Amino acid sequence: MPKGRAARTKIVQTPGPEPPICYGRRVTEPSDLYFRQVPIGPMANFIYLIGSRSARTCVVVDPAWDTGAICRLAEADGMTITGALVTHYHPDHVGGGMLGFRVPGGVAELVARAPAKIHVHKLEADGVKRVTGISEEDMVRHEGNDRVSAGEVEVELLHTPGHTPGSQCFRLKSALVSGDTLFLQGCGRVDLPGGSAEEMERTLSQRLSKLPDDLTLYPGHAYGGEHAPLGEVRRTNPFLSSFQKRSRAR
Ligand SMILES: [Zn+2]
Repeated sequence: MPKGRAARTKIVQTPGPEPPICYGRRVTEPSDLYFRQVPIGPMANFIYLIGSRSARTCVVVDPAWDTGAICRLAEADGMTITGALVTHYHPDHVGGGMLGFRVPGGVAELVARAPAKIHVHKLEADGVKRVTGISEEDMVRHEGNDRVSAGEVEVELLHTPGHTPGSQCFRLKSALVSGDTLFLQGCGRVDLPGGSAEEMERTLSQRLSKLPDDLTLYPGHAYGGEHAPLGEVRRTNPFLSSFQKRSRAR
């Protein structure tokens, strides 16, 4: 949860070639993948819609701020939302309240609108319940490396603690959706409850180090940009490059 003040919620529908829908990247091969990056709210958050065009189903990553607008956007694309993937429990990603900070919409509104399951890492589940008020039955608790499918499209859940204990990134085809673990020009803060500088360093220098350079990084906030190849982020993100250098020097 970066600093910021709740203001008027804004949703901007991103442009993109069709099909498949993929903001910012031209995909020329025929593909079943439905992928949409959507800027939302006053804190430069991104939500993502990920799914299968043939099955017409998708999951939504971090559906906070204006859940109605997110549902209408999926519907306008002919897609049914079957679940949400949660990167971590902060209200600007899941809605609800924490430390006097409240965000409208989120996973509680999503489960009230649609028969959707909320997929969280097991170490983040209690935080998500506390912040949003959803029930255990609404959630699926995951281990690292579990997979969630929308039609034929499979998303791998990578456990990447540091910003919070149960933070997770999502890998699918050539994309890495990174929440607040990694931005183009920074990483998530580690001074909020459950944050750990040591875990963040391990995540950035070891857990994410085996991922290929040609994955495209799609962050949870537009800090320093909207998306970029992971290889480029490795060279230009000061946190990532210094942690990687330090770990190579050991
Ligand atoms: Zn956060």
